[in-house]
Amino acid sequence: MTNNQNQDLFNQAKNHIPAGVNSPVRAFAAVGGIPPFIRNGNGAKITDENNKTYTDYVGSWGPMILGHCHPKVIDAVKIAAENGLSFGTPTKNEVLLADLLCQLVPSMEMLRLVSSGTEATMSAIRLARGYTQRDLLVKFEGCYHGHSDSLLVKAGSGLLTFGDGKSSPSSAGVPEDIAKNTIVLPYNNIDVLQDFFLQNGNKVAAVIVELIAGNMNLIRPAADFIHKIRELTTKFGAIFIADEVMTGFRVGIKSAQGLFDVVPDLSTFGKVIGGGMPLAAFGGKKEIMQKIAPLGAVYQAGTLSGNPVATAAGLATLNEIKNTPNFYENLTQKTQMLVDGLQQAAKNAGYQHFTAQNVGGMFGIYFAENGEIPNDFAEISASVRIDDFNKFFHKMLDLGEYFAPSAYEAGFVSAAHSQEIIKQTIKNAEIAFKALKA
Ligand SMILES: *Cc1c(COP(=O)(O)O)cnc(C)c1O
Repeated sequence: MTNNQNQDLFNQAKNHIPAGVNSPVRAFAAVGGIPPFIRNGNGAKITDENNKTYTDYVGSWGPMILGHCHPKVIDAVKIAAENGLSFGTPTKNEVLLADLLCQLVPSMEMLRLVSSGTEATMSAIRLARGYTQRDLLVKFEGCYHGHSDSLLVKAGSGLLTFGDGKSSPSSAGVPEDIAKNTIVLPYNNIDVLQDFFLQNGNKVAAVIVELIAGNMNLIRPAADFIHKIRELTTKFGAIFIADEVMTGFRVGIKSAQGLFDVVPDLSTFGKVIGGGMPLAAFGGKKEIMQKIAPLGAVYQAGTLSGNPVATAAGLATLNEIKNTPNFYENLTQKTQMLVDGLQQAAKNAGYQHFTAQNVGGMFGIYFAENGEIPNDFAEISASVRIDDFNKFFHKMLDLGEYFAPSAYEAGFVSAAHSQEIIKQTIKNAEIAFKALKA
């Protein structure tokens, strides 16, 4: 035993959990060192087993948009839990949550609730294939859509950090026979997409895309990229799946599809809609959704789908967002303040390779050789100064600032991050940038 609780727990964890973690990036393999074991959270802060407190810019990888332990969410969860944890029958909150999601996002006419983003995208793809009677799936390099077999082909952060990210499939255990039906095209390249469709468009079941990529750091879609996907899928009878598991209710009340004014055939949601509980959804056009069992021939099910405690957390979170005036204006303004402040801090420290940007409450920080914001997977992987990122990360962690432990992840600001908290982060960042120069 040491006097470091994180260290002791990490050692113990490795006995019975591979690498000591239940999701790879938590192991800190890319940045080195010991991951803090978090004991509790409150607002923008999390506290580890050594009693050290951090400002949290990960937010459970996106869900905690109201901050930790928001009283309305916790109350809703307590009430739901006291009524029973799971029944495997229909419950009222499922109906209310489905109604609310369809009310907020106009492209959603019908939906199914599931328990993870992985399940949502996997089911949406099966549905698209069943509906179109076609097999080919188009995805974009560096986009992550969960870890189902069809989607683990050039699939973003975890795989960028740990796999070689180049071969296809990008995980062992995915049969070539499955991977061969997944076509990977470069993000933001309209010409390549158009050429592909002109030759193969009538074989494509679906195109799945992160409307704003958030799993190869943050990459914005080029002007017209998303609209081109809409145009080509419509023309060739393929299904357009907007994967909004990360962007859903993170960048606006109508999500990224609202920002870009695009209407996908199917969408997937997760993260924010569960408010920190295991909850996700896929949905869209009624005509397509009615192909799901028992109405149609596409099978999908879940013992815990629409779980009453999870739906209570999701409803409380979305209602709080909806009922707070200027919620996204304020969240965007604070995230912008962080992004501007970090860039100023780098400048003050004389560090030239840093840049940053945000969309709503999500942000990207880039340690790029040319000091420019990347536009696709090839640019980000070619330019990233990994050693600088890792040093910055550890210095910030020491100073009580918890950023994602990988240069390929987006970051998140919550409604609980006050201006004072963000100013403190910016001050600490200047110290960290100066240490990079030293
Ligand atoms: C997180 C994420 C997923 C996977 O969701 P899980 O709940 O981790 O299975 C899928 N798509 C995108 C865009 C994501 O960010």
